[in-house]
Parts: sequence; C-alpha cells; structure tokens
Amino acid sequence: MSERNAFPEYRGRMEYYCLGCGATYGTEQLHYTCPDCGGVFLLRDTGFDALKQTSGETWRNIFDARAASKTDALRGIFRFYELMAPVMDERDIVYLGEGNTPIIHSSRRLSDQLGGQKMAFKNDGQNPSASFKDRGMACAFSFLNHLIRTQGLEEVLAVCASTGDTSAAAALYASYADSAIKSAVLLPEGKVTPQQLAQPLGSGAVVLEVPGVFDDCMKVVEHLADNYQVALLNSKNAWRILGQESFAFEVAQWYDWDLAGKAVFVPIGNAGNITAIMSGFLKLHELGVIDALPRVFGVQSHHADPVFKYYAAAPEERQWQPMQVEPSVAQAAMIGNPVSFPRVRYFAERFEAVAGAGSFQVVQVTEQEIIEGMLLANRHGHISCTQGGECLAGLMKAREAGLIHKDETAVLDATAHMLKFIGFQDMYFQNAFPPEYGITPDPERANTPLRVIDAGEKERLSETEYTKACATSIVDRLGLKSR
Ligand SMILES: *Cc1c(COP(=O)(O)O)cnc(C)c1O
Ligand SMILES: [Zn+2]
Repeated sequence: MSERNAFPEYRGRMEYYCLGCGATYGTEQLHYTCPDCGGVFLLRDTGFDALKQTSGETWRNIFDARAASKTDALRGIFRFYELMAPVMDERDIVYLGEGNTPIIHSSRRLSDQLGGQKMAFKNDGQNPSASFKDRGMACAFSFLNHLIRTQGLEEVLAVCASTGDTSAAAALYASYADSAIKSAVLLPEGKVTPQQLAQPLGSGAVVLEVPGVFDDCMKVVEHLADNYQVALLNSKNAWRILGQESFAFEVAQWYDWDLAGKAVFVPIGNAGNITAIMSGFLKLHELGVIDALPRVFGVQSHHADPVFKYYAAAPEERQWQPMQVEPSVAQAAMIGNPVSFPRVRYFAERFEAVAGAGSFQVVQVTEQEIIEGMLLANRHGHISCTQGGECLAGLMKAREAGLIHKDETAVLDATAHMLKFIGFQDMYFQNAFPPEYGITPDPERANTPLRVIDAGEKERLSETEYTKACATSIVDRLGLKSR
C-alpha cells in the first residue's frame, strides 16, 4: 500500500467544549448542547498540540499526497483526517463522493463586469446531495458509526429539522448506513423547494411536515432531543461543524497553501458554515500549514440579517438580537435566530486577533441583488444557487464600499446546485414573485422558450412540410445563412 493510500495512524482525544460556560465533556456520549447551561459546543482534539511537532511543510506534503488517494476513507473530507475528527477507524468512515469540489475561475466576461475583479466560485453544489451539507453529514454519520461500533448500540434514531438541504443530506447518508441508523426529517410545510422535498422522499426517509418556518421546526426537534433518545443532526451538532471545516482545507490546498490576497464569501443562515470555515483556516494557520489567513466575508439578505446587524454596530454597542424573517430567495439562509451565532463571535474574535481588523466582515444585500446575482453567475458558466448569488451580490457590495481590491481573489461559496432553487429563477422570468419578496423582475433579463410553430400546424402539415416549416421559422429567428 502506497503512502498516499495508508490510513493515518494518529489518534487524538476529542472533547466537547461549551462556549457558554466553558465545561468540557468526553465524546463517549452523544451531546447536542451543554447539559449544564444549554450552550453550543465546539469539538476539539486535546492532542492537537502534538500535531505541531510535524512541520507545516510535512503536513502540506501529506495532504497533497492524499489528494491522489484511492482509499475511500481518504478520498473525501477525511483527506484532512488529523485536523478533523481523528478518533474514527477507517471502517467507520462513510464516503459518498463529498468534498473535493471544484473551484471554477470566472470568465473574463463576468470579471469585466465587476471592474476586472479576480474571482472564482467553489461549486459546493457538486456534492452528492447537491449542497455543502454533505460535508458535515459525512462526519456526523461516520461518528455515529464509530459510536455504534465501539459501544455496541443496537439502534440510533437520527433526526433533523431543515430548510431543505440538511434533510436531503441526512436522508442520503442514512439510506446508505447500516441498519442500526434510522432517520427522520422535519420540514416546514410549503417552505422548501419541490426538489428539496423530493430528495429525502427518494432516499426513503420518514418525512414529517409541520406548519410554520424553520425556527419552529427547530423548537420541535430540540424538544425531542431533550426528552427522548435521538441523535440530532442540526447544525448545533458539533460533528457537522468539524466536517464542514474541509471547505477551508480544500480552498487552502487548491491555492497551494497560499491564502494571502484571498477573500472567501459565505452566505450566513444558521451560521454553521461560516463558523466551520473560520475554524478550519485558523487550524491550518496554527499548524503552520498556511502563513496568511484569507479574509472572510459573511453575506446576509436584508430579510434575514441578525448577524449583519450585530456587526454593523460599534464594538461597544453590539447586542445580539434574533429577528423575525421575511421571505427570501436565499431560502436556505432564511434564519432569524442562527444557532451558531456564539461560535461566529468566538472565531471572528480569533480571526481578527491573527489577521487584523477587517479580516472578518459581514455585508448585507437585497433580495433583488441576490436573485440577479444568481442569474448573472449562471449566464457566465457557473451553476450557482440563490445563496451563491447572494455571495456574488455580497462581493459587489464589498466592491462598492471599497472593502476589497480587484486584485484580491474573491472565492464565492456556491453552497448548493442551481437546480435545487430553480423555482426562483422561474418566478423571476415569469414575473411571479409574491410582493413580500420585494423583487421586481427586469423583463430584459427574462429568458423564455420560443414557440417555433403552433401545435395546430403539426396536425395540418405532412411530415416533410412540418420539418420544413419548423426549420424555416428557426432560420428566420436566428438569421441563419444558407451554405
Ligand atoms: C444550509 C445552507 C446555507 C446556510 O448555511 P449555514 O451553515 O446555516 O449558515 C446556505 N446555503 C445553502 C444552500 C444551505 O443549504
Ligand atoms: Zn455550558
């Protein structure tokens, strides 16, 4: 077995660390929130300092060698095994093709429209369930396998509430898992796209719908977790945050571990993803794998912007204030009380301590800018969802405000595949947005299919006449020249 295929020997000791009261707990038990104070956890490896004995260069070589691995357990997010959850065995790790998503540099035409801005999208919609949620789910399910194996558990019921993509990912990984893992997902009725509803149904999960919005679903599953034996897979689940750190590791690796002059744009919903991304970059920096941190920009819609509002205030006047959300095309980020906010605050402070003021910022964009950001991206070769459009809108906002230079490379997180949110494109093209969105489509941007001949014509014409009539109509429309 070659070095790149060898499963790592290092084993750490993970513990839960409460951001509320500072208490720590071992990981032999599944914890969701702190039993003492209800705070959110981070998971940390108490042996992390030992990893510093290996030089940054050696780590870079190890991770680069593993990028060509044919060992399933190392092909996805666990390429960075030592930095994530180094307690599992190779046999615990689930790999369904997650991670290692491409970074696609924007076309000259798109970049020119943004004043020559250097920019790229990281297509996290190319994960197996078509969103970044697979990164965290692969880690959480691998840990459940580890727990089941080491503790001889007979059955674990995994539950989550979701704005759509979490449940699609949870249901996918549950459907692959050993029979000891059963899963159920809770969705706000009518608040997820048809694609997102179809996914867990297709994976065979028990799908439960409740009236209300995501924040309501959350209260129900938390009540279940407090009172019954279930594993909650929501983003308070610290194992998911760990898996999502892989996004940061991959960005660093793609740019040959040189993140000076890079700015990563991330949409903020429940704030788990931006937490994980900052945590990941900080780990690389601590180990000397990277010398410079990139800048990180969070982006929020004006219809769901509690994190933006918090950071918009002067430091001494900041007050955390959950809010009531308005409808948003960035539906997966339409969250008024993000559970990971304490984690954002924790890592933002550390980020700024290393990289200085301005290394972490949050920008606010309008619904109109978000949907038009998505349309613009996808007309230039990208496959961005509305949340990816939100990142592009955020980049434009940052440019207007003079927060970013055109020679900095903006890396935009396209968190899901465009097809998951394609209904919003239809609403734009067909001018069908309910007024609450506050979006006025520009008819110039609408794209609709063109009818070549009327249906009645087909009945009337012979087969040859029909082909000719269609071709003539197309020739006229496209102005084709004969050869
Ligand atoms: C979950 C999700 C988000 C929001 O991420 P958080 O970790 O909740 O901040 C953004 N985009 C998509 C496509 C998502 O599925
Ligand atoms: Zn606590």
